[in-house]
Amino acid sequence: LPVVAIVGRPNVGKSTLVNRILGRRAAVVQDVPGVTRDRISYEALWNGKRFTVMDTGGWDPKATGIGASITRQAQFAMETADVIVLVVDSQVGATDTDLAAARVLRRSDRPVILVANKVDDERSEANVAELWSLGLGEPQPVSALHGRSSGDLLDLVLDAMPEAPREQEQEEGPRRVALVGRPNVGKSSLLNRLAKDERSVVDSVAGTTVDPVDSIVTLGGEEWRFVDTAGLRRKVNTASGMEYYASLRTEGAIQSAEVAVVLLAADEVISEQDQRVISQVVDAGRALVIAFNKWDTLDEDRHDQLEREVERDLARIKWATRVNISATTGRGVGKLADHLRWALASWEKRVPTAELNQFVRALVQETPPPARGGRAPKIKYVTQADIRPPRFVVFSTGFLEAGYRRFLERKLREQWGFSGTPIEVSVKVRE
Ligand code: GDP
Repeated sequence: LPVVAIVGRPNVGKSTLVNRILGRRAAVVQDVPGVTRDRISYEALWNGKRFTVMDTGGWDPKATGIGASITRQAQFAMETADVIVLVVDSQVGATDTDLAAARVLRRSDRPVILVANKVDDERSEANVAELWSLGLGEPQPVSALHGRSSGDLLDLVLDAMPEAPREQEQEEGPRRVALVGRPNVGKSSLLNRLAKDERSVVDSVAGTTVDPVDSIVTLGGEEWRFVDTAGLRRKVNTASGMEYYASLRTEGAIQSAEVAVVLLAADEVISEQDQRVISQVVDAGRALVIAFNKWDTLDEDRHDQLEREVERDLARIKWATRVNISATTGRGVGKLADHLRWALASWEKRVPTAELNQFVRALVQETPPPARGGRAPKIKYVTQADIRPPRFVVFSTGFLEAGYRRFLERKLREQWGFSGTPIEVSVKVRE
């Protein structure tokens, strides 16, 4: 189960918060057996997601002094938790001890949520803003009396949680691939080639969860599940008017896949229909491999022409990995597995928060965001909110224009690769 660790000084209200998380709305499923009073874990359920809440408070009686204790709490949380919640007393503000904990947690590659507790009145609301100084992003105000409810906080915690618990990601079976492209680019031919050259279980396997419309193909020493290939194995009617259904089918395949291979015919110009398929993949946030098929037909003239078309028509997906193949001769097909692996690795990459902020801070210093209406927005903090695909949230004091967001995106791509995956950079404006 994903673990949410609660970290904080004594008396900031950790236990109250844990009780609220476990309270009326998030059902306590069970007490984890064998826990002592100084290390409390509970299994909880919220919005259909199960997770463990762990109160690290008072966990380490060996540590001398509160400062040492909280540093250990934070370290422990970083080693064991999927999401870390640091609780701070907004009425007191950030103490040296809070700063010590924050310093440790800023190095965390797990998401950290900063909770400003005891926001009961307007005075403490003003104090909340000050907690930005902890360098852990936006402080989330919570109050036992009023203010933001624990439900909102839980939504935030669950949003920060990895899609699937880390251990399970490996067990899901073969990676799911959508083989898509307009009619006649060679999808059926490629699938047949893969099925012929390699061991493949094309039909449903009794007693397994393999969907009969999927094909399991071994490629590059690994099994892959090509989703919704029934129509490719038994050619379906692609007469006009069927295009709508073809596109629905493509959408379905992309939705159930992790990575899509968009097949293009190298001997024909890149068409609007090709572009639509590419957009479907990008909009769905899936990893993307571009494969130019029918490479065997290319003469030098067409080759040069194609490279110019790619420059012009595929500029928006420069980041996609590209492989040239021939389903007929088998050329390049073996390389497909490497491209799938690269794209998936980028799609799942998580950049450590500290590294990310260090990089962006230097970048912003060199090229600050342009001023609008006389005031230049200041970038406070960047966090990678999600993977599959990577999503970044930039906290800024003002609106960042599209050009600057694209600049940030480009620099993030340059720094960490991210070839083969769309990435998202969004901006949250906080004064
Ligand atoms: P689909 O509609 O995308 O499934 O395309 P098909 O697999 O039916 O292929 C369309 C046509 O292109 C067929 O006549 C294939 O023989 C041909 N074709 C497919 N791949 C290649 C290739 O790599 N080289 C050449 N020369 N022809 C190919």
